[in-house]
Amino acid sequence: MKIMKFGGTSVGKPERMKSIIPLIRGEESVVVVLSALSGTTNSLVEISELLYSGTKDQAVVKNEALRSKYHEVVEELYSTDTFVKEGHELVNSHFDFLGDIITNSFTKVQEKAILAQGELMSTGMFHKLLTENNIRSVLIPALNFMRIDKDGEPDAFYIAENFSRELANYPEEKIIVTQGFICRNAYGEIDNLKRGGSDFTASLIGAAINASEIQIWTDINGFHNNDPRFVGETKVIREISFDEAAELAYFGAKILHPSSVNPAREKNIPVRLKNTMDPQDEGTLITSVSALQDYKAVAAKDGITVFRIKSDRMLMAYGFIRKVFEIFEAYKTPVDMVTTSEVSVSITVDNPRFIQQIEQDLKELGSVEIEENQTIICIVGDFRTERTGSAPEIFEALNTIPLKMISYGGSPHSISLLIDSKDKIAALNLLNKYLFDQ
Ligand code: ADP
Ligand code: ASP
Ligand code: MG
Repeated sequence: MKIMKFGGTSVGKPERMKSIIPLIRGEESVVVVLSALSGTTNSLVEISELLYSGTKDQAVVKNEALRSKYHEVVEELYSTDTFVKEGHELVNSHFDFLGDIITNSFTKVQEKAILAQGELMSTGMFHKLLTENNIRSVLIPALNFMRIDKDGEPDAFYIAENFSRELANYPEEKIIVTQGFICRNAYGEIDNLKRGGSDFTASLIGAAINASEIQIWTDINGFHNNDPRFVGETKVIREISFDEAAELAYFGAKILHPSSVNPAREKNIPVRLKNTMDPQDEGTLITSVSALQDYKAVAAKDGITVFRIKSDRMLMAYGFIRKVFEIFEAYKTPVDMVTTSEVSVSITVDNPRFIQQIEQDLKELGSVEIEENQTIICIVGDFRTERTGSAPEIFEALNTIPLKMISYGGSPHSISLLIDSKDKIAALNLLNKYLFDQ
């Protein structure tokens, strides 16, 4: 069985959604994972933010504007009156549900239910589109099998058991449709796999059923060697390893959700990135094999905060770093980069939630400086420690950019640097020129 995940732009317009049909039709047996129509999750986030700030009236206006947009999509998507009518009913049922939450019962749990409506609608609409085109398919709700534990991590065992059980109900079906992104949490409430999480859904399902391939269909011809949103001359990478792709995704390459490579890597299932608007292009293949290259790709992750802890007690002391890390652990805040010197240690985090509390606790150990609005630049290439002369071009390229931290040797295939976010675009472009523009 193959997994085919289609992202927001791939289902964002009626003609795009229709163009998926020939892509899945030739498949022997496929699980189709869909995101919400592009822009929808952002609008739903805005609606819940309006509710948090107490501006209910504006939330109603936003909800009705989105409802109208969906009715327009329905008009173009279906060709028969019956399906147009059913499409409008489907859309209305979701927007009525949202309207009810907005006016009557907004709570933290309902916020997640609001965010889930995008994927629930896109899959409902697509399933109907297949039916209208006489293509048999079955819609299996992700809320029946996709689940995270109390730490917010996917429960792989539960997912495998429950998805297989659901599948067993439809032994004849060749096309299964389900929602990306949404899941239930350990308390059975509606939750999600964080923004961009449909990629993660695809990989989790792929691993759960030992799929032959996981395809991520998006709006670009695969993984590029730099961020196309900030750099003009980027090139597609045809083959990349799980480790390299995971590193780039974790450090900001938006094409993949940060955790999405892991389930595929664990089961050694190839991941193929493809462009819905250019299906003939081979895209990028992610496998366990890596063609070593001095420099393969660059990515950037914003929203980083650095803590600098300085203490004489660190000098020659054992256990000091443990005490520092225990503080981050206590606040469930993962650490990205670490560098140390004789009496100081610098640590970066991307989750700003407990910055103040962490700072307070760290002050027990020494003086603490904090800097926000930082960016990690990750360069993936061949940095095996036995090599000589690795990376001189990186430092030459960035000799006009202040480098705040350098992490080398943590991984044989990446180097990470910390810079000020205001220098990000310049740094990405300089690296492109020096590393790839030959
Ligand atoms: P989808 O809605 O299909 O999930 P996303 O917007 O999440 O699509 O991801 C695709 C986008 O990721 C591309 O349009 C591109 O702008 C951005 N992107 C960032 N870094 C990279 C990269 N290294 N390679 C390809 N695309 C990238
Ligand atoms: N719709 C969700 C989002 O916009 C999930 C996804 O697109 O992968 O974040
Ligand atoms: Mg995405």
